[in-house]
Amino acid sequence: MPSYDYDLFVIGAGSGGVRAARISAAHGAKVAIAEEHRVGGTCVIRGCVPKKLLVYGAHFAEDLRDAARFGWEVPDQCAFDWQRLRDNVLGEVDRLNNAYKQTLTNHGVEIIHSRATVFGPHSVKLADGREVSAKTILIATGARPHIPSCPGHEHGITSNEIFHLDTLPKRILIAGAGYIANEFAGIFQEFGTKVTLINRTDVILRGYDESIRDRLLQISMTKGIDFRFHAEFRDISRGDDGSLTVEMMGHDPITVDCVLFATGRVPNTEGLGLENAGVEIDEKGAVKVDAQNRSTCDSIYAVGDVTNRVQLTPVAIREGQAFADTVFGDKPTTVDYDCIPSAVFSHPPMAGVGMTESEAKEKLGSVKVYTSDFRAMKNVLAERNERALYKMVCDGANGKVVGLHMIGPDAPEILQAAAVAVKAGLTKDQFDQTVALHPSMAEELVLLK
Ligand code: NDP
Repeated sequence: MPSYDYDLFVIGAGSGGVRAARISAAHGAKVAIAEEHRVGGTCVIRGCVPKKLLVYGAHFAEDLRDAARFGWEVPDQCAFDWQRLRDNVLGEVDRLNNAYKQTLTNHGVEIIHSRATVFGPHSVKLADGREVSAKTILIATGARPHIPSCPGHEHGITSNEIFHLDTLPKRILIAGAGYIANEFAGIFQEFGTKVTLINRTDVILRGYDESIRDRLLQISMTKGIDFRFHAEFRDISRGDDGSLTVEMMGHDPITVDCVLFATGRVPNTEGLGLENAGVEIDEKGAVKVDAQNRSTCDSIYAVGDVTNRVQLTPVAIREGQAFADTVFGDKPTTVDYDCIPSAVFSHPPMAGVGMTESEAKEKLGSVKVYTSDFRAMKNVLAERNERALYKMVCDGANGKVVGLHMIGPDAPEILQAAAVAVKAGLTKDQFDQTVALHPSMAEELVLLK
């Protein structure tokens, strides 16, 4: 039997890699994990976590405006201090980074602060030239922002840099119309920045239910976000005053202080040495894996965004857990990708699970759709003319709820609980048998017409 330095060597300490390392070690494996940046990965360091904290910070803009209607004396001009919020958020990221490192250490996982590349089916090379061997290698290197190639693209930033801005931009142009674009459009709009969002098509949040994303578009436009569709970058140039002028096809040029690229993410496989072990990648650069997360090399596995299956943290965590249980826990496990709930932390937020109305019509033919279009009680008193929309999509043949989609205050919180019922295959009748919890927004789920 050949002997190796480690049972498992994980490349990348993000959500998937950390879970896989920790659980494999708990199953008795000798584990090392290499990370070239900071332990925690995109979600913790430069993604979901700091973004959600900015969303909370941004929401105070509305709460402060609404407070007067609820009897509070609030000065007409409330000042917002970007640097204070930024530093507090980065402080929380530091705390989580340390907590992640502590968890790994507590489980006996060796953390190697270095870039690591695959050198062979059982060997890895570190940045200092050292070579280490492992019975199994796990690729969990995640993904990075895609930057469109246009002259002057180097003047733009991505979600990696946005959390570190020195000052709050007065004008921002956001390229893309997906998750990151709509989330940051809402955040900066609430902070008082003039936001322009441009996209190559006229579809925002492709994949979400049409009615829900139309509602977000309408509310965002009412709030003052400027959308420019069918726009493609031609050039970005920096003026003497530091401003950026963006030329695009089909639209007039625009001058801003910051350009944010939010045009998708690409798997981090470049320069990883995968060819040294016969690990195949697909046309998008993602590691090809089977249901057990095994690549085309028997001793190398991959989980998370680098496999470009579903680019969501909880999915990467499940894949990391399934890998560890299968390979080191003697408990073969595969991830169930059906009915994964997701949310966009826009202003207001939206969330969905299961099939959209058009998907259901295409797949099932006969479909019944129930909606509730309402103004949250709080918005009524606040004189905030912003309507929520809930939509339930049911299989026409048996009433089974196959999709649930919503936009409105706390939609992600409400949807997570409702997703349990959708995943369990409940019918519209079974939803209706539950007595409404009044007064709440969630009660609409059992009162849908
Ligand atoms: P998305 O895939 O959500 O959206 C990408 C946007 O960029 C789309 O509007 C797309 O246009 C446009 N686009 C894609 N490629 C190009 C290109 N080559 N040139 C110009 N425009 C382009 O990507 P994001 O970057 O917003 O987010 C990446 C992933 O991260 C998401 O898919 C999601 O899985 C995850 N994420 C999840 C969050 C959450 O759960 N709340 C939050 C943030 C990120 P079109 O659709 O018209 O083709």
